[in-house]
Amino acid sequence: MDTKIIYFTVNGRPEQAEFNVDCPAHDVKELFRVAAEAGPHDILKLYNTKGSIINISPQLEPNTPHACYKLEVVATDCNREPLGGEPAVALGFDLSSMEKRLQSLEKKIFIESGETPSAVYEMKDQMELFREKLESVEHLSWLGLFKELSERKCKPSPFYHKRALRKTSEECERMREKFLQMSSLEVTEEVRQYLKTPTFDNWQWEDTEIMVLLQVMFTDLDFIPTFNIEVEVLQQFLYEVYRRYNNIPFHNFKHCFCVTQMMYGLIWLTDLRTKMESIDLLIMLTSAVCHDLDHTGYNNAYQINARTELALRYNDISPLENHHCAVAFEILEKKESNIFRNLTTDQYKRIREGMIKCILATDMTRHNEILNKFKSILPSFDFGNKDHKDVLMMIMIKVSDISNEARPMDVAEPWLDCLLQEFFNQSDMEKLEGLPVTPFMDRDKVTKPSSQTGFIRFVLFPLFIELANLFPFLEQHIIDPVRKALDYYTEMEKALDKEKQT
Ligand SMILES: [Zn+2]
Repeated sequence: MDTKIIYFTVNGRPEQAEFNVDCPAHDVKELFRVAAEAGPHDILKLYNTKGSIINISPQLEPNTPHACYKLEVVATDCNREPLGGEPAVALGFDLSSMEKRLQSLEKKIFIESGETPSAVYEMKDQMELFREKLESVEHLSWLGLFKELSERKCKPSPFYHKRALRKTSEECERMREKFLQMSSLEVTEEVRQYLKTPTFDNWQWEDTEIMVLLQVMFTDLDFIPTFNIEVEVLQQFLYEVYRRYNNIPFHNFKHCFCVTQMMYGLIWLTDLRTKMESIDLLIMLTSAVCHDLDHTGYNNAYQINARTELALRYNDISPLENHHCAVAFEILEKKESNIFRNLTTDQYKRIREGMIKCILATDMTRHNEILNKFKSILPSFDFGNKDHKDVLMMIMIKVSDISNEARPMDVAEPWLDCLLQEFFNQSDMEKLEGLPVTPFMDRDKVTKPSSQTGFIRFVLFPLFIELANLFPFLEQHIIDPVRKALDYYTEMEKALDKEKQT
């Protein structure tokens, strides 16, 4: 009888499932359920290495430990805590109702006094610590031993209620070791050249290799000698960045890499090194690396409607982008990961100002404002004018951020699946919580082609065309592929419409 072994991770923990190829699908699902320690009503989602959801069945494509799948557990009952809830009950605590009480107390105090007193923050910290303690229970038994609670390495995130999204410290440590071992290897000239092109295929590279490639970008733009960056500090910075991107379908570490790689490619294609100062290029590349740090997969509209802590903190003004930027400077505050630590105060000030501008510019609600500004200065664009350069930098990070469709189809299309998956997760949550549902995220209203054709026509093209006006050479690299993508999705849309009619 044939048996299959499938390798996968659950919460960063490697697992393997062995089953007979002709056993019932239900048994295979049960196997995964047990591995995930999931309850009978939980939904399991299995992702392949491209981030697409795959069916848990005896027909699963066999894989290797190096290209393993990822298993995620989604609670069906939104009132049930995905983590911590069960152990808490078993230990005699009702964590979820405690949290609810705390939340309603916080709301009440907020409404009455207009601000959250520090005592509430302290209580939340305590609650978070307690949750961490519960989550670190290895095996739940009456004799259950707690793992040694390590000292909290970073401040609690404002997304305190979404902890399952975070990478575990074990996972991160493993990746760090692998990255450091790998970084001593020489990256070939062929890869270094390929890295400068928009046709680069991110799906071929694992996260540790991606960290090495990011290091190559900083090296090949001569940032290391120019800004006196120590290699160990750069590596620690890149590791911290990796650590603070979450396990979500789209806005993850691979997206960070793609945006940075496109920015890097644009810098080379436009020969920007001869037109702008090195410090500006450093701002652009570092901003791209940091631009979505600690994204949890719910956009600004959700943050504002759900009145999350981020929306409260930033008064509904670009809550996410402000947070990404703040996390970036949190990383840079630490001496061991501050790649700017050997710069003068003036240089640091300039970089901080530039990075804040670039990262905040990625809020799509500011799209027209920034594009119109760029259009108005284009006829007299002057690389010697600081204001002009500032707008160009914002435009370039915006282009890089939404540049997936400028990539070859087989690279771009899986990204669209990831994006829709993240959108659908959000709209599902909005429906559960009774919040307004963003129409372009609604799985009942959106199809793959319909989501893309409008976006390409009304957002991508108008933006990319203006950048190509300044750098005509870019036309073949970013406009032509987007045109092809538009044709592809227009055809797909037509075919879908036809199908509906018949
Ligand atoms: Zn982004």
